[in-house]
Amino acid sequence: MIELRDICKSWDGGKTFAVKNVSLEVPAGKVLALLGGSGSGKSTTVKMINRLIEPTSGSILVGGEDITQQDPTLLRRRIGYVFQSIGLLPHMTVADNVTLLLKLQGVAAEERTERANQLLDMVDLPSETFARRLPSELSGGQRQRVGFARALAAEPKVMLLDEPFGALDPVTRDTLQVEFQRIQRQLGLTAVIVTHDMAEALLLADVIAVMNMGEVLRIGTPRELLQDPGDDYVARLLETPRRHGQLVHELGS
Ligand code: ADP
Ligand code: MG
Repeated sequence: MIELRDICKSWDGGKTFAVKNVSLEVPAGKVLALLGGSGSGKSTTVKMINRLIEPTSGSILVGGEDITQQDPTLLRRRIGYVFQSIGLLPHMTVADNVTLLLKLQGVAAEERTERANQLLDMVDLPSETFARRLPSELSGGQRQRVGFARALAAEPKVMLLDEPFGALDPVTRDTLQVEFQRIQRQLGLTAVIVTHDMAEALLLADVIAVMNMGEVLRIGTPRELLQDPGDDYVARLLETPRRHGQLVHELGS
């Protein structure tokens, strides 16, 4: 469904590489987590999938088609994109934010209202309470839900999520992670989720790709990584969730 073939990205004409020889495959309906520290090339990698950034070399296929052969605007309509800073328009209601893209596509007002209500209910923001509010009248978690609803508005098959839960408190993050998983499965979405949190990757992903300094160090299922990290850096990333899990287990027994 999503395929990256030997992707490289340099910002300085090839002196250094933000992304280096990255090859990845995300089968339809599956979730791939791109995991790594700050500056490891995660955001650059996902932004190349919806052509916010053009690769220096390599090719990317979405649904079997080379994305350079597609109009970037149309491509972006087919791909939901959720990011940490959300970017809701402050003067527009929640409902209008959610269906802005549909308005640009010429969908009639009545249908947009109906669709906004459906989407808000889906992300657990009851439309009768939230549809008419402004973004400033929402909590951080509620705003992130609106961001999800907006990304789902054009019924994409593919979702890119760049640290979508990063700025949330742990309880809200946990709730939204579970909800994301429910919606992803319900709609059969193919997703790439960027995170620096190994626990989140283990929880949400079918496949984890660990990045460091622009390169993919290790690709595997959560189980494969836990059984055989295969790399010192990956092993270190696994230590924290392991230790926390063990501690909670010991305290509870
Ligand atoms: P991550 O999302 O893993 O934190 P990024 O993909 O944002 O990392 O960044 C990877 C590298 O590319 C960093 O060294 C960053 O400074 C560089 N980079 C990102 N965007 C740009 C840009 N627009 N111009 C120049 N360098 C950039
Ligand atoms: Mg980033």
